[in-house]
Amino acid sequence: MSGHTRFDLIILGAGPAGSAAAHVAARTGLRVALVDRRAFPQDKLCGGGITGRAMTVHERVFGTLPPPDLFTTKPDFAFYAHGHPLWAVQDAPPMHMTMRTGWDAALLGCALSAGARDYTGHRVAAIDTGGPAVPVQVTLESGPTLTAPALIGADGVNSIVARALFGRAWEEDQIGFGLEVEAPPIDPDAPVRIDFGAAAWGYGWQFPKPGSTTIGVGGLVARNPAMKATMAAYMDALGVDPDRVKVKGHHLPFGRFRRVPGKGAVLLAGDAAGLVDPITGEGIAHAMQSGALAAEATVAALAEGAPDTSLARYAKALRPIHRSLAQARAIRPIMFSPALRKLFLKGFAGSRRMRHDYLRMMAGEAEYDDLIRQLILRSPRYAGRALRGAFSGG
Ligand SMILES: Cc1cc2nc3c(=O)[nH]c(=O)nc-3n(C[C@H](O)[C@H](O)[C@H](O)COP(=O)(O)OP(=O)(O)OC[C@H]3O[C@@H](n4cnc5c(N)ncnc54)[C@H](O)[C@@H]3O)c2cc1C
Repeated sequence: MSGHTRFDLIILGAGPAGSAAAHVAARTGLRVALVDRRAFPQDKLCGGGITGRAMTVHERVFGTLPPPDLFTTKPDFAFYAHGHPLWAVQDAPPMHMTMRTGWDAALLGCALSAGARDYTGHRVAAIDTGGPAVPVQVTLESGPTLTAPALIGADGVNSIVARALFGRAWEEDQIGFGLEVEAPPIDPDAPVRIDFGAAAWGYGWQFPKPGSTTIGVGGLVARNPAMKATMAAYMDALGVDPDRVKVKGHHLPFGRFRRVPGKGAVLLAGDAAGLVDPITGEGIAHAMQSGALAAEATVAALAEGAPDTSLARYAKALRPIHRSLAQARAIRPIMFSPALRKLFLKGFAGSRRMRHDYLRMMAGEAEYDDLIRQLILRSPRYAGRALRGAFSGG
């Protein structure tokens, strides 16, 4: 394969953000190239926790719910704090747990059925993000150079598109990191387990699935200098034999999102745009949604013959996601800072309403507004202090 191949839109990355973008753009008739260095199906390190929010976004973007055999669904949750049981619930809004191998392959299948051209399993040799009236060029190691008036960087937390635009993919003091293992399956009736305090400015999780149990810890890198030891302690607490599992790690954009998610006709979506919830670590729903919004913005800009207006359109469409992430950042200190955590745990253990709002927020049935309201109602002085700290960059 060599030579130039022209498209209307190149999408780099075929994870949830890229496949959503490709599906939405290709079904309008755009000529779309979907590039990924991974050949699918292939695993991606992730808890695979699909919330109600992600289900709703999937249905909106792809027109259907995902095939039910991709996941197992549980309404039972057990919350722990620093190793001690905090609260258990059997009828929460459910969590759907999947393995990314099947999930990502299914999304890619949707994108290709809509007409996107498949360049998965191809590494990028060079990228030129173009400029006003200068097309984007992506040269693949396998030979061809793809050109298009528009590009969506959906290439994850270490995005080469973000690096090409802004010099770096993420800020050292804002980035998160997660470690995970696939452990042998446990009791099929076991609840989804969440451990506050298992990692600093983060948490631990145990997701029971049919063939395995996904166990992990994640939190801000800057607050967890010994994450491997943290993971070892968590596995020990859950009775996991370290000789029977392989620990893997991956960064996650767990802090500030990119306020300006691209430049001209080059847009960033999903993790590349920093759209992971800074409290729950959920990223799949916002990845699919932002991918779809980036595609819609590009389609509209190209239709008017003005590819450079893509960013303005996309930035406007992303506002609700940015607002939700900003709110999560604002209340994160209340949940995670050692000084204020007691307040949160006390509130969580003592207030049915707060627990209810937390679960609804996790499921995508509510936004952070409701949780903030509960925190302020329960302890206006502490909440006010934390929120002021967060908005001043704390
Ligand atoms: C330990 C851990 C646990 C998590 N658990 C959950 C969870 O339970 N639920 C949840 O909602 N979220 C979870 N997340 C977050 C979630 O994994 C991400 O937010 C989500 O995958 C983002 O989707 P994306 O499409 O933006 O990026 P990705 O899924 O990372 O996809 C990016 C794609 O780009 C490709 N790519 C990267 N670089 C290049 C390149 N140079 N050239 C070509 N292709 C490239 C990659 O191969 C990949 O296919 C977790 C994250 C971590 C690290």
